Amino acid sequence: MRPSYLNNLLSPINLVTGIGPKIEKLFNRIDINLKVHFLWHLPYNIIKRQKHENIHDAQINTLVTLKIKVLKHVPSRFKKQPYRVHCLCNETPIDIVFFYARHPVVKKNLPEEEIRFVSGKLEYFRNTYQITHPSHIIETTGINEIKNIEPIYSLTAGLSQKIISKYIEQIIKNIPDLNEWIDEIYLIKYRFLNWKNSIVRIHNPDKIEDINNQNIYRRRLAFDELLAHQLAIAIIRNYNQKKKGIVISSNNKLYEKFLKNLKFKLTTSQKKVVEEITIDLESENQMIRLLQGDVGSGKTVVALIAMLKTIESGYQSVIMVPTSILANQHFENFCDLLSDLNLNVEILTSKDKGKDRINKLKLIANGNINIIIGTHALIQEDVVFHKIGLAVIDEQHRFGVYQRMVFSYKGKRPSILVMSATPIPRTLALASYGDMDESRLTEKPLGRKTIKTTSLTLNKVNKLIERIKINITNSNSKFYWVCPLIEESEELDLKAATIRYQHLDKIFKNKVLLMHGQLNDKEKEQIMYKFINEDYRILVTTTVIEVGIDIKSATTIIIEHAERFGLAQLHQLRGRVGRSNLDSFCILLHKEIIGDNAKKRINKMIETNDGFLISEEDLKIRGAGEILGKKQSGLPSFKIAELSFDSDLLEDVREYVEKIFKNNLKLENNEGEKLRSLLYLYERDAAIKTLLAG
Ligand code: ADP
Ligand code: MG
Repeated sequence: MRPSYLNNLLSPINLVTGIGPKIEKLFNRIDINLKVHFLWHLPYNIIKRQKHENIHDAQINTLVTLKIKVLKHVPSRFKKQPYRVHCLCNETPIDIVFFYARHPVVKKNLPEEEIRFVSGKLEYFRNTYQITHPSHIIETTGINEIKNIEPIYSLTAGLSQKIISKYIEQIIKNIPDLNEWIDEIYLIKYRFLNWKNSIVRIHNPDKIEDINNQNIYRRRLAFDELLAHQLAIAIIRNYNQKKKGIVISSNNKLYEKFLKNLKFKLTTSQKKVVEEITIDLESENQMIRLLQGDVGSGKTVVALIAMLKTIESGYQSVIMVPTSILANQHFENFCDLLSDLNLNVEILTSKDKGKDRINKLKLIANGNINIIIGTHALIQEDVVFHKIGLAVIDEQHRFGVYQRMVFSYKGKRPSILVMSATPIPRTLALASYGDMDESRLTEKPLGRKTIKTTSLTLNKVNKLIERIKINITNSNSKFYWVCPLIEESEELDLKAATIRYQHLDKIFKNKVLLMHGQLNDKEKEQIMYKFINEDYRILVTTTVIEVGIDIKSATTIIIEHAERFGLAQLHQLRGRVGRSNLDSFCILLHKEIIGDNAKKRINKMIETNDGFLISEEDLKIRGAGEILGKKQSGLPSFKIAELSFDSDLLEDVREYVEKIFKNNLKLENNEGEKLRSLLYLYERDAAIKTLLAG
């Protein structure tokens, strides 16, 4: 069904010549999986590579492009000696230098007596100009291959600018001309170029303004992305409203028994949300609801109540979480909370293999299990449910937006409850989750103390350690020590955390543990187990603890280089403590000199514990031009659109989608065709499937 002219762009990158499994993995790491993703990977900076006739016009230690005449090759005689090629630029001698170079290759690239353009960093060494390992060596006819201005892309370890630029250029060369899907009104209003030219221009900047937030090339692509998304959620929403779901009518026996056994009273906020959910469950329409609530606001109990109502009505309930650690936590928690209710609770993760798994699947398929807790192992093809009535998806933003739809296909349109611990500002909620109804837990359970948050400059870290020493001797308290993300590279994260671990381990013998993202789930679980059950006091960790870990005895979290974290993420991390009625603390360690926005973020953290307030502030600060990586923001993000910046586009996009829907609900004829290709291009295929389903 997909138009064939998009097949190439939407094919996986391993089909590109030169991209083998190793490079593929590296690209995957920066979210490049399909060829089209190269186009979405926008430059964040530029470098100038100036062309000079004469060396004396050029500056030492800058990137230059020079026309040279090759004179003589002087290969290295022993390993560490570089291979030098003596050349002339105009009349001035210059050496082109290679380490560990192979003679024939250099000879071929720089034949004696010939003229070449070379580009690289100009150095001056022992009274001679030189360029070491030039990035370009080009014959005179190809001078235009060397750009004056080169875009710079974010990378991961193992990739180079040269490699990524090469593939981006290659993909751009082959992109098709697509029919315009944006209405003329908006094209004129924003002065957009067409899709193809916008892409070409942003990847071939002439000046820094060509790649900043405001330029019309990025804005055009952002409009497209928002349009695809809004269109998709409008289609799905429309479909859902037309279709009947399961009607849950419970006499609330289980619910009441559960409440009676519960050691606490529901908060007003929890009661209100339970009511909202109950109305949905009892209605003929399929429930698709987003439940937002800060960490510790008690979402689990609310979900559990919905699950009990569902079970009482003769259906199964499922809860899907992002990691097996969380699955286990829920499992234990549920068994505890449900101990007197005589229900069968089972857990299914990727660790279940062979016979065990087959047995579990049988029990699930024949309806012996009431509650199934699991990871995405739950949405595998061979998992068949007897009668699924409710699917709860915890910690939403770790799952793809469409993964929740899978459960719809696995049953007769069960109710879907998506839970997110990242409070999202209104505009963002509308943009990202417009297809869902929304509930908010705005209140913390009674008796919960606010987390005392302070900041401390890094040069006072030794004082902090002294305080921890005293604390550890006098109490049972446990500490998280979080080390930051460094340029979004896991290897470097690990290094920083390892150094801190070794440092603390020397001071606190046998009391410190290290956890990081490169460990597998089992190893992580073992560490968590030790931290909870043995006399370990400090867990040094990268941001892997961000999601859902619940250890009541951990009452202090120290966040190192807090200035590097986004507000939402700081807030998420802080939510790891303060999960009991014990006094809890958050210490934000930061560099002495930090930027204005970092200061604002840290101050906001000190000022408030309210996640909804923090999310609004986060959007505001990011709107002020802060560039933090995607992972940093903790909010569900678009690849190109930045809602803090593009909210005007969003308004127009929503208006446009309404118009489209009024006239052409099914995206038929020529106009519809164009919009369909947009949906494919931005991988909103699920919406098209929905459209076809009726
Ligand atoms: P989250 O919203 O982060 O998923 P949880 O559901 O894990 O939060 O709840 C955090 C803790 O608060 C749990 O230990 C839970 O038992 C407890 N809790 C939930 N609701 C209440 C309440 N109304 N009063 C007291 N404690 C509660
Ligand atoms: Mg939770």
